[in-house]
Amino acid sequence: MQRTTAPNERDRLRIAIQKSGRLSEPALALLAAAGLSWQESRDKQFYYGESLPIDLLLVRDDDIPGLIADGVCDLGMVGRNVLIEQQYERESRGQPRPFRELRGLGFGRCRLMFGIPEAWDWQPEVQLPGKRIATSYPALLGRWLQQRGIDATVVLMSGSVELAPRLGQADLVCDLVSSGGTLSANQLKPVEVVLDSEAVLAGPTESFADVRAGIAELLLRRLDGVMKIRDSKLLMLQAPRAVLPHLMQLLPDAEPPTVTPLDGQPGGDVAVQALCHGAMTWQRLEDLKRAGARGLMVLPVERMLA
Ligand code: ATP
Ligand code: ZN
Repeated sequence: MQRTTAPNERDRLRIAIQKSGRLSEPALALLAAAGLSWQESRDKQFYYGESLPIDLLLVRDDDIPGLIADGVCDLGMVGRNVLIEQQYERESRGQPRPFRELRGLGFGRCRLMFGIPEAWDWQPEVQLPGKRIATSYPALLGRWLQQRGIDATVVLMSGSVELAPRLGQADLVCDLVSSGGTLSANQLKPVEVVLDSEAVLAGPTESFADVRAGIAELLLRRLDGVMKIRDSKLLMLQAPRAVLPHLMQLLPDAEPPTVTPLDGQPGGDVAVQALCHGAMTWQRLEDLKRAGARGLMVLPVERMLA
């Protein structure tokens, strides 16, 4: 059934995510952890939200900023590299900024970096003038060069950027790097970061003026909760009350603890419960034990609502 609302008025929120690629699975996992469930359309292009009035549109990641700008989608999960590239590109054409980053999502981490031949030293002001730099991010690279007053040739490539120097198409590259393995396989070394990137939740610059405002707010609250507990653990231990200050010094990433006297234990022993936001490694547990803690237990946190 076709609804007859104006294109910019909807009573459901529509989020664009990558259809197939590095960001697809983590984006769906994050939305599921925030309580969204969905029904997939037969062509797997549109997921109809069941538990919340939120639908998903599955598209190429490069289309996501434009879909938000055009109001076809309300929010999107996309790499910061893609979002900023398209923002700079629009700005260079004098178009206003139609989307913005609402949250970093903590997955799809990578960096846009210069990769240079292994034999080079890195002295950009000296080396770059007149060189050819292969990239898929001409606007980001262009702005970086412009800010430093460097005049180099940007060679636009849509894929396999790291091959360009070997094929004689460019002298160096400015490409996305996560481990650096692809660069070194092509005798290039990463030298300078142009942009630190991760997947972000993007939305329009203006807030929604209808029920979508409330739905977006609920989703953001839930996403914040999910992201906050991703590395959080509940730490339980027992210890003499006197060593508690020392234990808390070893737990700088812990929330204020709950401290309960132990029943029938003379000597002021207490049970301690603390929510910790950093990784609770064996090393840290051993340090706590050495400082007087015993009965240490680390428990996963399933849900949290601040
Ligand atoms: P699409 O078909 O949707 O256009 P794509 O080939 O452009 O897919 P992917 O390779 O899946 O996209 O990358 C999507 C995003 O993943 C990138 O824009 C970037 O934000 C992030 N990413 C994380 N690590 C890397 C990496 N090592 N190389 C490239 N992208 C990475
Ligand atoms: Zn893409």
